[in-house]
Amino acid sequence: MKHAEHAPTIRRAARGLLSVVIPCHNEEAVIAATHERLLAVLPGTAMDFEILYIDDGSRDGTLARLESIAGRDPRALVLELARNFGQQAAMSAGLAHARGDAVVILDADLQDPPEVIPEMVRRWREGVDVAYGRRRSREGETAFKLVTASLFHRFFASLMPYKVPVDTGDFKLLDRAVVDAVCALPEKRRYLRSLVPWAGFRHEPVWYDRQARMAGETKYSARRLLALAADAVMISSDAPVRLTWLCSLGLAAIGFGATLVAAWPRATAADSQTGISLAALIAVATLVGAAQTMAVAIVGEYVVRTYREAQGRPTWVVRRTINGQGAVLPALTNDSRAA
Ligand code: UDP
Ligand code: MG
Repeated sequence: MKHAEHAPTIRRAARGLLSVVIPCHNEEAVIAATHERLLAVLPGTAMDFEILYIDDGSRDGTLARLESIAGRDPRALVLELARNFGQQAAMSAGLAHARGDAVVILDADLQDPPEVIPEMVRRWREGVDVAYGRRRSREGETAFKLVTASLFHRFFASLMPYKVPVDTGDFKLLDRAVVDAVCALPEKRRYLRSLVPWAGFRHEPVWYDRQARMAGETKYSARRLLALAADAVMISSDAPVRLTWLCSLGLAAIGFGATLVAAWPRATAADSQTGISLAALIAVATLVGAAQTMAVAIVGEYVVRTYREAQGRPTWVVRRTINGQGAVLPALTNDSRAA
């Protein structure tokens, strides 16, 4: 009976529509090759398909290349965002516009090999709702990135009250029901790596070797990665606020101990003989001050995020769609043209 939870419960239809969602920001060097690779692989899934390119405010020739791809191939849809809204927004826009029974999210730079998609589709047909790419190895990344990413994934997963897979990026196949559930969430600031696991459903890994970027450069500097990591934690977890509790308890314990020592006559006598150094006083005062400031700052981060959500600005704005018909999912059609 133990294996029952892994046994497939649904057998999905042989055909159906597969959407591939690709966020693109300054990917002129690679985008044509990405399309070619997909055209070579997708017929092997025996599904009809559409490929949705989301141009996330590229400043190079990406958009021109996408226009030319879409001009030749009606299965290529282009969603041109009005500026650079960030990868999370671009992927969310793609999910809202995808029409498929299953939707794959893929990076533009071929780090996620499209050849893995047929295996994801196979798992989906067997009844898996989220077939996520899990990295067996990662080529072309610095040792620093490998270590920090691995540590962050584990730290992040440990904070979440639901199961979040590690060594996993955005490369995954989602069933229509999962896409609908995620897109129906009203929150504007979206971190898909926690939203998709939040929805639940049946998740299974598909192991693969992550490639080096085929061409072009990463869009994430160390600073941007750090900001993304902080944002991911803040929008998905209450743990930082809880940390300030721990901090205050620790300080209270120290204060309590110090009070006892001070109340002990002999100790006080010793103190008055030697005197307490000014440096020690400053050290204690600044440490306590720092702890208090940190607590205020952490609460402030949540206040800012609450304010942003209250403003209710859309996650992205669409300037133009090519070969598309507007968003499918009303909850996230926060662009006026698609509504
Ligand atoms: N991307 C995007 N908007 C951004 C930054 C990145 O749409 O503001 C896209 C980018 O074109 C790529 C994917 O997100 O398809 C992942 O970006 P990148 O390869 O630079 O990240 P890395 O793989 O280095 O973590
Ligand atoms: Mg990449």
